[in-house]
Parts: sequence; C-alpha cells; structure tokens
Amino acid sequence: MNARAIRRFVQARAGFRCEYCHIDEDDDPYTFHLEHIIPRKHHGRNDRDNLAWSCHTCNLAKGSNLSGRVDDEVVTLFDPRRQNWNRHFRWRGPVLVGKTKCGRATVQVLNINAEDRIKVRALLIAAGQNMM
Ligand SMILES: [Zn+2]
Repeated sequence: MNARAIRRFVQARAGFRCEYCHIDEDDDPYTFHLEHIIPRKHHGRNDRDNLAWSCHTCNLAKGSNLSGRVDDEVVTLFDPRRQNWNRHFRWRGPVLVGKTKCGRATVQVLNINAEDRIKVRALLIAAGQNMM
C-alpha cells in the first residue's frame, strides 16, 4: 500500500473524525494528520496498526508524548487501535470527560478541553452536530 492509499485507509477507518477528540474533518479548518500512536521517535512503526487519524490540534499537542500524569501516576495515553474510545471517554455537553486515568491523561496532554475547543464544540452541538 502506498502512502496515499494508507492515508485514505486510515481516514476512512476513522470515519473522517479525529480518533481522539472526535471532531469531524468538515468542522475543522485545519488539515488532519496521520498520527503515529507510538511516535517514530520511540521507534513506532509506519504501518496501519500504529496510525490514527487526528485533527491538527490533537496531533500537535500529543507530539511525541506516550503518557501523561494523573494523581501523581504516569499513565499511558489512549491508543485508538487497541482501546475502545467509549470505555475511556464520555461527553458532558461540549466537554470531554476522561472516564479512566488513561482517558483523563489523554484529555490533559492533548488539551482537548481548551476553552476555544469547547466553544467550537458548543457551536457545533447547537447546530445539531452529534459529537458521538
Ligand atoms: Zn482531535
């Protein structure tokens, strides 16, 4: 599979949404990224099992991070390939709530509840968008 085909596969597999914050591509002004779940810096592979579809904002915030800190504990970030989103997150209106330590660490490190991001989601919800 060439790079373009991999990109299209990962995009479609994700349903054209960020696999972390669930924003739809059509609702985000920035180009989405092929995100390495385990970053290349940490010897993550460049194949489909290590790739996620990510909005620009989540991807830049995640950077080469693999973990966050919750209650003084180092916690591995959410892995969209090996973990179930609904087990780790839920919506409270436009706010994403981490249900587990992993979910909370991911919300923190990826800055998913930054004020401007909550405002955008509140507008989308008001316009009838389902954040899923
Ligand atoms: Zn995102």
